Amino acid sequence: MANHIEIDRDRCKGCGLCVASCPRQIIELGRDINAKGYHFAVQVDPSRCIACQMCAVSCPDVAITVYRGRK
Ligand code: SF4
Ligand code: SF4
Repeated sequence: MANHIEIDRDRCKGCGLCVASCPRQIIELGRDINAKGYHFAVQVDPSRCIACQMCAVSCPDVAITVYRGRK
């Protein structure tokens, strides 16, 4: 499995801090809404993720888990 993140959509409040923090600019707020009525964040191009953890650290709701791949 390559680098990627998982976002707990129902923890997300759509604040956009992770979007701003990602040095690869591969997180966006999506079109769909979660159970709380927020546009939740999604990772749009996992193949470019460097597993730097910036998104996870920036999230005030601890909604993001980063997985570091083997390659
Ligand atoms: S781990 Fe780093 S590169 Fe990957 S999505 Fe998060 S901020 Fe972006
Ligand atoms: S920082 Fe957390 S709460 Fe804010 S948009 Fe990103 S995943 Fe959602």
